[in-house]
Amino acid sequence: MKNILFLAPPAGGKGTQSDLLVDNFGYIHISTGDLLRNVDKNSELGQKVQEIMKSGELVSDDIVIALLKDKLLTLKKDDAFILDGFPRNIAQAEKLEILLSDIGKELDYAIELDVPYDTILKRAIGRISCPKCNATFNTFFKPAKIDGVCDKCSSELIHRTDDNEDTFKIRYDNYIKNTAPLIDFYKEKGKLLKVDGLNDTYEAIVSVIIND
Ligand code: ADP
Ligand code: ZN
Repeated sequence: MKNILFLAPPAGGKGTQSDLLVDNFGYIHISTGDLLRNVDKNSELGQKVQEIMKSGELVSDDIVIALLKDKLLTLKKDDAFILDGFPRNIAQAEKLEILLSDIGKELDYAIELDVPYDTILKRAIGRISCPKCNATFNTFFKPAKIDGVCDKCSSELIHRTDDNEDTFKIRYDNYIKNTAPLIDFYKEKGKLLKVDGLNDTYEAIVSVIIND
């Protein structure tokens, strides 16, 4: 199986595609956003991380890299991984090459999800999820049957604090400035796969990473 990462704007669909690939092929999903959200909220580090994420800015490379490194060390020899949310800038991409070579693994594809701005804005603002079973809903595209309640397990749905319009704009600007340059970075390495993020996205990804 191919080792992959996603390059996509906030709410571009990285998490959704990752979940499908995990369910169908047993990929190990590594989301730096999830790793950061899971830092103990009572610790000094957790408080700091939460504050930065709430603002929409990027967490410092040192913090994210330390979390990622620990997670990569848990991979077994035959595990294939999906990186979701990392790297977010050139320095992180360069560090990734070192971390991977340290564990004897290599990245095969950087998958760019191409999605228009108005779609990702609605995906973010409307996004709600279940803290218990991780099911996701969207008030515009995929509402829950009962407003605010999980269809699957009846838990109360939550909205991420950074999924509001003002913070989304900061996250998007950050993507354009810091992360989008990685598209050329991976193109030059012959590893870029550009995919339509609106139609048949999953099928396009599978046809390349599984059949190749
Ligand atoms: P999205 O891509 O929808 O913005 P993520 O869950 O990937 O959501 O990221 C949420 C937040 O976590 C980011 O806005 C940023 O503050 C922080 N974050 C995640 N990954 C990184 C990273 N690689 N470097 C720096 N900050 C990160
Ligand atoms: Zn649920």
